Amino acid sequence: MRFLIGCVIMMGVICTGKSFAMHRASSVEKPLVVILMGPPAAGKGTQATALTDYLGLPHISTGDLFRENIRNQTPVGKTAKAYIDQGKLVPDQVTIDMLFARISHPDCQHGYILDGFPRTVEQARTFHQRLEAQAAKVECVVLNLNADDAELVERITGRMICKGCSKPYHKHYSPPQQEGVCDACGGDLYQRDDDTAAVFTKRLEVYRVQTAPLISYYQSKGLLKQIPSKNSSDQVFQEVIHALPHTPALAEK
Ligand code: ADP
Ligand code: ZN
Repeated sequence: MRFLIGCVIMMGVICTGKSFAMHRASSVEKPLVVILMGPPAAGKGTQATALTDYLGLPHISTGDLFRENIRNQTPVGKTAKAYIDQGKLVPDQVTIDMLFARISHPDCQHGYILDGFPRTVEQARTFHQRLEAQAAKVECVVLNLNADDAELVERITGRMICKGCSKPYHKHYSPPQQEGVCDACGGDLYQRDDDTAAVFTKRLEVYRVQTAPLISYYQSKGLLKQIPSKNSSDQVFQEVIHALPHTPALAEK
């Protein structure tokens, strides 16, 4: 009997995280697209990293994709750098093409987590239109993380990112176990060039003018869920999980 109970518990443990994608594959469910919205430094990257572990779906950050292009000195990277350094948005067409190239990879077939995309109403419209044109039926949920400005500035100036896996840390709130080294992959931590107070002010302004209108856009489509993000990242993550659609695969978690 004890052995049997042990087996059931083990199965429960195995049926979490990475197995989610397999569940979606074997069922008739549509791929799940989680869109994480919110001002810069609201915690999108942290929540996306946690969701990736939980759901077994890839984390797609347009900011990370641009930084990778900049490191590799690609034409996209060269275009993007000029905008990013000034805290401005990269033009929609460049961003959308880069995004679609990434989501056409096979690892996205059961869904993905979008972090930092869409960032304009135009990006959102084109994204949904192109998915429809490809007859790609997806289940979409938009989670809007919100926090007030003072808190955002505090978070941004203490933020460090892993060069290897992009996991974010904070020197006071979530320091790594060993200074300058990523707990997850052992990569070096660095501070982003655009995480200075001056560029951040610009990014926040760009967010208010160009990205915030997306909130009412998604509200009117009935897809938006509000997530207060001033609590600890673990508490925010619980809210995020609650806001996910109740699919049979998730009900097992
Ligand atoms: P954060 O969310 O902390 O502001 P990101 O890493 O998401 O940072 O983005 C960094 C920069 O990359 C942005 O300030 C912008 O210049 C560019 N960028 C990222 N995503 C997009 C997007 N969807 N459209 C246009 N520019 C983008
Ligand atoms: Zn890492």
